Amino acid sequence: MTQRWVFFTVTVAVHLLAQVATAAISKSEINQKVQSLISQMSLEEKVGQMTQVTLQVISKPSISGSQYHELDPVKLEDALVNHHVGSILNVIYSAFSVDHWQNILTQIQEVALNKTPHSIPILYGIDAIHGATYTLGSTLFPQSIAMAATWNPDLVRWEGEVVATEVRASGIPWNFSPVLDIGRQPLWSRFWETYGEDVHLATTLGTAYIEGHQGNLQGNLIGTSTHAATCLKHFMGYSYPLSGKDRTPAWLSEGILREYFLPTFEAGIRAGAPSIMINSSEIDGVPVHSNYHLLTEILRNELHFEGVTVSDWEDIKRLYTRDRVASSPEEAVRMAVMAGVDMSMVPLDFSFYEILIQLVKDGKVPIARIDEAVSRILHVKFQVGLFERPYPDPRLKSEFGRSEFTRLSRQAAQESITLLKNSNEILPLSKNKKVLVTGPSAHLLSALNGGWTVTWQGDSEDLYPKDKLTILQAIQNKLGAQNVSFVPGSTYDRILDLDAVVNAAYQVDAVVVCLGEKPYTETPGNIEDLTLEKAQLDLASALIKTGKPVILVLTEGRPRVIRQIVDGVQGILMAYLPGMEGGPAIADILFGEVNPSGKLPMSYPRAPNSIVPYDHVPMEEVEGNTYDPEFPFGFGLSYTSFEVSNLQLSVDSQQPTQTIEVSVSVTNRGNRAGKETVQLYLTDLYGSVARPVQQIRGFQKVELNPQETKRILFTLTPNDLTFIGRDYRRILEPGEFKVKIGPLEKRFQVGQVNPFTVFM
Ligand code: BGC
Repeated sequence: MTQRWVFFTVTVAVHLLAQVATAAISKSEINQKVQSLISQMSLEEKVGQMTQVTLQVISKPSISGSQYHELDPVKLEDALVNHHVGSILNVIYSAFSVDHWQNILTQIQEVALNKTPHSIPILYGIDAIHGATYTLGSTLFPQSIAMAATWNPDLVRWEGEVVATEVRASGIPWNFSPVLDIGRQPLWSRFWETYGEDVHLATTLGTAYIEGHQGNLQGNLIGTSTHAATCLKHFMGYSYPLSGKDRTPAWLSEGILREYFLPTFEAGIRAGAPSIMINSSEIDGVPVHSNYHLLTEILRNELHFEGVTVSDWEDIKRLYTRDRVASSPEEAVRMAVMAGVDMSMVPLDFSFYEILIQLVKDGKVPIARIDEAVSRILHVKFQVGLFERPYPDPRLKSEFGRSEFTRLSRQAAQESITLLKNSNEILPLSKNKKVLVTGPSAHLLSALNGGWTVTWQGDSEDLYPKDKLTILQAIQNKLGAQNVSFVPGSTYDRILDLDAVVNAAYQVDAVVVCLGEKPYTETPGNIEDLTLEKAQLDLASALIKTGKPVILVLTEGRPRVIRQIVDGVQGILMAYLPGMEGGPAIADILFGEVNPSGKLPMSYPRAPNSIVPYDHVPMEEVEGNTYDPEFPFGFGLSYTSFEVSNLQLSVDSQQPTQTIEVSVSVTNRGNRAGKETVQLYLTDLYGSVARPVQQIRGFQKVELNPQETKRILFTLTPNDLTFIGRDYRRILEPGEFKVKIGPLEKRFQVGQVNPFTVFM
């Protein structure tokens, strides 16, 4: 609690300063200013605003093998003055210092303000995925799948606030985050960028992140110096490739899209996100960048999204070069703009700019569509405060990388790590033991962080900070180096020396084997098989055979199948990608300084061909099909035990417009304090569309001392009982529902529904 309070006090103080510096500007004031600018801008200037290029386009060629970077003043002027470019993104290869970022942004804005006709500042956007990825020394949190395992919206909200603060300190007001895709395809190489398989959990956490990042749910603090604009991505269905490979087609009916993939975005829009990035891939044969139905009919007309839609990397070009739904580059640009894309992440040339100007001159794209897109872009530039404070603020550098932020990241890692097995209470290990640490991820920070860390792929271990601890170093810190031996045993995919590691195992009391995945994202992370690499499984099997207790620590972005070793190891800690503080957090749990409280935000498959989500439909439970994962969704052990009792509903039959209160007691039955996430599952027993056997509709994480009991209250709203009907509209049907918390169940009836009720 003290830590929370300190964190808030610090950030609130910074907010207040920021508020003083920025008088909030209302939506109607912004609209007036935007209209006045638009009325003075040339076609070229307008189309330039819709054009986004990468930093490389305005930089001197990078010196191979060096981190040196320098802007090229001639290229910079060519982009901003000759091509009226309105937005720039990203980094060249790896993270820069805060100072360098501030210099870059200052130079860019100087040209934009002093050499362009209307002095419109540049909107710089960056991928700050689990922290300010591309700023050296930033606070790097657990990746989203791990943040989801905390089941703690407060932590996610604070993460959002820290990320925004550090991105702002770097002079950047726009972050291409959070990923609101739903993680229901564990083969996908970006699974770990999601908040997992459940819509309710992902919606709750996504909203919390946006709230922290932008300052509140109204979006009117985005312009303050400790907040920044979010970009929801990737709208939508990107996370469900049929093949599991990145950027390959999804086959998704509109009903499934609306039930599982739309709600997170809908909530993100309600939470005030001012921008959305489009799905690079295709759904049912239609590349999403060309899909008017999704980008305009649903996003604009139904969800009333007023912000900017930005393409993903090169994806407008790809309508022609890859997908061949457009027969020329010109047709590709026309299709995307008319489907509803406002800004093109071109990003390596000015082709979009040149083509779109010509299309307007030829009458193939109406100027009204250009004005619409540009007014949205300018609106965001006003919202983030660029017109009032276009230059980076050097004072913000002191807000960067604060020690409170590091503590928060460690707490997040501690709360995410999920204890999946603990036979004979092997954990926590006592500190007077000798331990062998082995496995490919034991001595690598990159194994803890994954992609989007310092570089895009996160695999440049040599560029990682020198003062952060690997799992091995953190264990050595706890036990003393003399009590810890280390033999790598294998790389990620190759056995090194089994004899050496087995011999070392015989010398110790317990073995900690650290297995998992090397860093990756996007297509470089594609895999052929969900099963963990054979070399790693064989390493663990050889250790199990020694008879010594083996504790498995998994650092992985997706649930790799580990059937071969699950029964043989005595303890399993799922650490996901726990971020820069992951090493110490894992050691805190191994040695009992922290009681684990993470719960799986996804089902952990037992076999590679058995990928069934927890909220599957009844058909998946009959005729020999079962939900039989290695570990179920929501599962996670503790060093204490909890019991739920006395489940009560406020009514047992309900009018469909009323809310219903659900209460339950939870007691810590063990002898140490711990945190438990109480999970409320709802089942709609009969429906006109097959209803999931269960769905999370509420959760609360509580901390309890030994023998302490707390009463937990949930409120179910009518919306919680709805689903997407056969006509793709959200409906509520009368009938019987079941509430389940732990082993306890209660039923209630819902009466006749007024057919005119509209559910969102
Ligand atoms: C990714 C996006 C990212 C963009 C800019 C794309 O390849 O799909 O998630 O924001 O690059 O780096």
